[in-house]
Amino acid sequence: MAETKRTCGSCTACCKTHAIEELNKPAGVWCQECSIGHGCKIYVSRPPTCQDWSCEWLLGVGKEEERPDMVKIVLEWRDIPYFGQTLLLFEVTEGALNNKFSQWIRKLAKNRKDTVCCLPLVGKNTIYVSRNPLPIEAKSFGTINGRETDIIYI
Ligand code: SF4
Ligand code: SF4
Repeated sequence: MAETKRTCGSCTACCKTHAIEELNKPAGVWCQECSIGHGCKIYVSRPPTCQDWSCEWLLGVGKEEERPDMVKIVLEWRDIPYFGQTLLLFEVTEGALNNKFSQWIRKLAKNRKDTVCCLPLVGKNTIYVSRNPLPIEAKSFGTINGRETDIIYI
């Protein structure tokens, strides 16, 4: 039997977490076009950034009950300069990326050699990287999702 394609349903989490350049919408605040828990008020004419993007859950990653609005974290794989494919974890509610979770992130980056980036609701982002030799020397790295990003080598 063919697998049913996932739909966003009542999730609108990425309309809060993501910066949308076309709308001058910063990261971590609700988009003015969002009907929270319902969907996009301008769905047909939403900007290309929104049209061209899907979170990992929508693409089939994780369990049904791990939808971003339920676990309060949005996952995305993105190609980041110097680091390549990087797992981005966007916080939907402050505290979702708590210390315990950060430990898990560090372990994931270390064991799988993946680069992981935590994007809290407020404040700077942090990239955790275990790669050696280091891709860049700097301790901080431009912006991701419109926010300054620090690097932690683990
Ligand atoms: S976070 Fe994923 S499931 Fe939720 S609205 Fe965005 S694309 Fe849809
Ligand atoms: S334009 Fe629509 S889809 Fe894009 S962030 Fe705003 S509410 Fe979400």
